[in-house]
Amino acid sequence: SAAHGRRTLKVLLAGPRGFCAGVDRAIRVVEEAIKRFGAPVYVRHEIVHNRTVVEDLEAKGAIFVEELDEVPEDGHVVFSAHGVPKAVPAEAERRNLLYLDATCPLVSKVHREAERHFADGGPESRHILMIGHAGHPEVVGTMGQLPPGTMTLIQDAEEARTVMPADPMRLAFITQTTLSVDDTAEIVDILRARFPHIEGPKREDICYATTNRQEAVKAIAPESDLVIVIGSPNSSNSQRLREVAERTGAKRALLVPKLENLDWSVLEDVETVGITAGASAPEALVQEMVKALSERFNLDIEERIVKEESVTFRLPSPLGP
Ligand code: SF4
Repeated sequence: SAAHGRRTLKVLLAGPRGFCAGVDRAIRVVEEAIKRFGAPVYVRHEIVHNRTVVEDLEAKGAIFVEELDEVPEDGHVVFSAHGVPKAVPAEAERRNLLYLDATCPLVSKVHREAERHFADGGPESRHILMIGHAGHPEVVGTMGQLPPGTMTLIQDAEEARTVMPADPMRLAFITQTTLSVDDTAEIVDILRARFPHIEGPKREDICYATTNRQEAVKAIAPESDLVIVIGSPNSSNSQRLREVAERTGAKRALLVPKLENLDWSVLEDVETVGITAGASAPEALVQEMVKALSERFNLDIEERIVKEESVTFRLPSPLGP
């Protein structure tokens, strides 16, 4: 038989993995908008950082653009899950575009924290240190909630050690939602030690989904010769999963957007492969990968679920209940 002589491959599936509540909601916003208003519906920036998701929505009638000037008058436009600077809805209003905001509620929560620290620029106003990665749309969106100059980006421990805020008594920090939990803890410790009066969240603003997916990959990494993280190269939380896997004991960890990008030679000396998926990667891509593996190996599959998730978000108005 074809199975004769095939070797066994142990597969460790991390749980939770894949879609988070914010991604699920953002996709439903686009789908509902197309149903309600008809195609095309414009989407500013990739709704979530995944090509497969983008292509599926394009097939349903979404048109992805980078900036609002690509949206025609009377167009409907959705803002992506990562959030947008305040200037974007303002521009949409000026142009009379109908917009729907798919910003994840957990990102919006960070926007409100920033506004609270800013306190209208009055005597209670605090300068904000934003921990995150330059150029990521969530960072652009969050820093764009307030006037230029009210936030300083802190990208790593070194920048936390050297930043010189004008008034250490009036200081706050916020974070991107998709950072490495361990790296961020180090950065926050440095800031709290240097600036005892700094205000901020109890730990950081990393969301439940990022936290849980990193915890889940840590539970499979030490036993894995290879960890495959299904996710896009521009997905922050997927990149962090790959790093966490490598740092916590996987011999090797690779970010693979989808099955067709897998170089089969990486499995040559692998006895145990761990698989997880970033928060923007559909479960179908995981199943497709497992199926392809099953055609080449005798699989011994084990799923390790470190946490059950039950978070869901309602759709924004006017799509919501
Ligand atoms: Fe929201 Fe977290 Fe998902 Fe980002 S990764 S969309 S913050 S739940």
